[in-house]
Order: sequence, then C-alpha cells, then structure tokens
Amino acid sequence: MRYDSIVVGGGPAGATAALTLAKAGARVLLLERRKIPRYKACGGCLSRRVERLLPFDLGKLNEEQITNLTFTWRGRNPVEAIFSEPVAYMVWRDKFDQALCRLAIEAGADLQDGQTVRAVRASKHNVEVDFDGRTVTADFLVGADGACGVVARDLFPNRTQPRLVGLDAELPLTSAGEAALKGRVILDVGRAPGGYCWAFPKGGVASVGVAVNRRAAKQVSPCLTSFLNSGSFKHRSPVRTTGALLPVYHNGTGPLYRGRALLTGDAACLVDPFLGEGIFYAIQSGPMAAQAILTAGSHGGDLSSYQAAVSTAIIPELEAAGRLSRVAHRAPWLWFQVLRWRLGVIDLYRKVLIGETNYRVFEDQIWAQTPRPVAMLFGAWAGREYLTPKRKELGSW
Ligand SMILES: Cc1cc2nc3c(=O)[nH]c(=O)nc-3n(C[C@H](O)[C@H](O)[C@H](O)COP(=O)(O)OP(=O)(O)OC[C@H]3O[C@@H](n4cnc5c(N)ncnc54)[C@H](O)[C@@H]3O)c2cc1C
Repeated sequence: MRYDSIVVGGGPAGATAALTLAKAGARVLLLERRKIPRYKACGGCLSRRVERLLPFDLGKLNEEQITNLTFTWRGRNPVEAIFSEPVAYMVWRDKFDQALCRLAIEAGADLQDGQTVRAVRASKHNVEVDFDGRTVTADFLVGADGACGVVARDLFPNRTQPRLVGLDAELPLTSAGEAALKGRVILDVGRAPGGYCWAFPKGGVASVGVAVNRRAAKQVSPCLTSFLNSGSFKHRSPVRTTGALLPVYHNGTGPLYRGRALLTGDAACLVDPFLGEGIFYAIQSGPMAAQAILTAGSHGGDLSSYQAAVSTAIIPELEAAGRLSRVAHRAPWLWFQVLRWRLGVIDLYRKVLIGETNYRVFEDQIWAQTPRPVAMLFGAWAGREYLTPKRKELGSW
C-alpha cells in the first residue's frame, strides 16, 4: 500500500501527528519499534495547560491531581506551596501513549508496532523508509522517534545533541509515604549538577528521578541514591530504574524540516530546559507538523510553515525557559532562596503550569522584581538583554 505520510515513533509527538493527519483523510503509516503499550522512562507529569491540547479527557489515565509543590534544598528546608486547584496531572506513560495511539488508529492510521526503522532518505519529491527488510515510500516523513532517533541521525546530522541525562525509578510507597506524597510533587535542588531530583506520586507508587548535565553523567546514579535515602523514601527499594537522555532545547534548534521530512517532539529537542517537561511540546509540535504537511500537499511540498509555526509558538517559550534554567542551575542556592523568600515566584510559576501565563512573562516578572546588581550579574549569565523597553515598562526597581 502507498502512504501519504510515514510517522516514525509512537510516542506523544508521533501519535498526535498521525491522529491529525488521519483525521484529515491522509493515509498514514505509524511505525513504532516497541510493542504498544511500551514502557518509557519518564516522570509522567503533565502540567495542567496540556488540557487544551489533549485530544481526550484524561479520565482514568490521571493517576493523581497535583495541588502541592514542595521544593527542598538537598532534602531539607521544604518550601511548600498549596493550591486550591490542580496545577498538574500524573500519568503512566505506557497507558497514556497507548491511548493516543489508539485514537490515531481509530482515525485511520495504520500502526505497525514492533518495527524498527533502520534508515530513512528524503528527496524533493518523496521519502523512503527502511524497516523489517523492506522499503516503503511516501510523500512526507515525520521524525517523532525521540532523543536518539534515526530520522535526525540520517537527515539532520547537525541537530543539537541531548544535554541532560535522566534516571527514573518506580518506588512502591508505604501507606505513610503514600499519604505524605498525596497530591504533592517534591522538587529537590542543589544535589544534581545542572538539574534536579523529583518525586511524583501515582497512587501507591512514586516516580522518583533525577536529571543532570550530561558532562556530570557519572553523578546521576549517586544523586538518585542520595535522594532516595532522604525523606520518606528511606528503606524502600525501587522496582525499576531506567536511564534516558533528555534533549532539552539549547541555543536554537536548527532546521526542523528538510525536503519532505520534519522533526517533532524530542527528536527536535523541544524539551523545556527549566523543568525538563517535554510531553506538552511533543503534543504541540506533532499536530503542527501534521498541519504543515496538509498545507504542503497543495503547495508543492513546501514544509517551511512548520518552522515558522514552531518559531512563533514554541521557541520563544523554550528560550525564556533556557535563560531561567541557566540561572537556576548555575546558582541553585540563590534560586532556592528566591523560592523560599518570594512565594510570589511560585504563584507565578503556577500560572505558567495552568496556562494562565507563559515563561516569557514569568521571566520578565522575576527580573523586574530582582535588585538591579543581582539582576545584572545573573541576567548576563543567562544571556538576557538588559533594560529592554519592555523591562523599563515593568520597572518595579
Ligand atoms: C527520566 C525522564 C523523565 C521525564 N519526565 C517528564 C515529565 O514528568 N513530564 C514531561 O512532560 N516530560 C518528561 N520527560 C520528557 C518526555 O519523556 C519526552 O519529552 C517525551 O516523551 C517526548 O515525546 P516524543 O513523542 O517526542 O518522544 P518519545 O516519547 O521518546 O517517543 C519516541 C518513540 O519513537 C520510538 N522509536 C525510536 N526509534 C525508533 C525507530 N528507529 N523505529 C521506530 N520507532 C522508534 C521509541 O520507541 C518511542 O516510542 C522526561 C524524560 C526523561 C528521560
């Protein structure tokens, strides 16, 4: 059978791209190397703003509603913010991604799982994908194959390499541990170089993990062990510990399309460098890629509208998150003090999580309320321009 589009990768980016294409009547082949449902190393934390992008109600997929953000400094000095409404939801990735794939299939996509794509080629007129000893041709190709995907490897050799390495463990909780973590996420700073540790509740189990700068990869395991030995996790052993790379956005993504192929989600490094949130951007970029393909079909195959859409809707957010992360990760103690003494910052962050505001406004507000010498020093680190007209307007010096 001939397909209009081939999507490589059945994660959130690929499934939502396939869903959008199939809904529009396109013949779509969705290739996934693992059998669905498949395990994915991930905290499974969805900021609430994801609701506006999701093609379904989370319903039973939602394991926990988060109303409490607790920040700790190396396991101590908790700073707690309690909200009246949820700011995030928790999902198991195997079930969540399966539900997205199921929708794509219902819309008409042909999911072939357990199929590893070995190589891809793209020309001005079509794309070729090698898997399972055969070659399939289509008009367009979506690379949604994650942090170490074959589409970026073969067609986008200059793509930025993943900068963070993460470790995720599942930890069965005692009933006391479950009660302590109910509706709460713990974000621990100061321990993980260039990142942080987290504990996310999912009923009787917690997803506990750490992300560190790749240069400090050797410390990822000791960091997780020391985090597990702190707080209410003591004396519990994780049942599964899995490592993975986190392709956080860094200094521009480079081209996101080439000929008739494009990159989405982790394959395009669309992960928030401040928190490591990637599901939101995967679900945002997947349908954008599909939309660009649908438009390109009647415009000689030109996919440039995808680059424009991502540059407008996603990149400015990730740039602002990148500047914030440079401060938070280079000076974690200072960042923790900001969280500790300026609870307004956490409330601003709540607004980002629920989609009431965005990272750009969050960043502007933080700098506007920071004493000038401190802002000059850390802003320079972060790569922020000084005294822009916008900043002068905000002014509360
Ligand atoms: C430890 C850790 C914790 C995280 N926690 C969170 C969190 O709490 N919240 C959040 O929002 N984000 C989190 N992230 C990031 C998030 O997991 C990713 O951003 C998200 O999964 C990106 O979705 P995707 O569809 O682009 O890629 P993926 O979900 O990685 O999907 C890619 C798919 O492509 C398939 N594939 C790869 N190669 C091939 C091939 N050659 N042929 C066929 N199929 C292939 C893979 O099997 C996979 O199913 C975390 C990441 C890590 C590493």
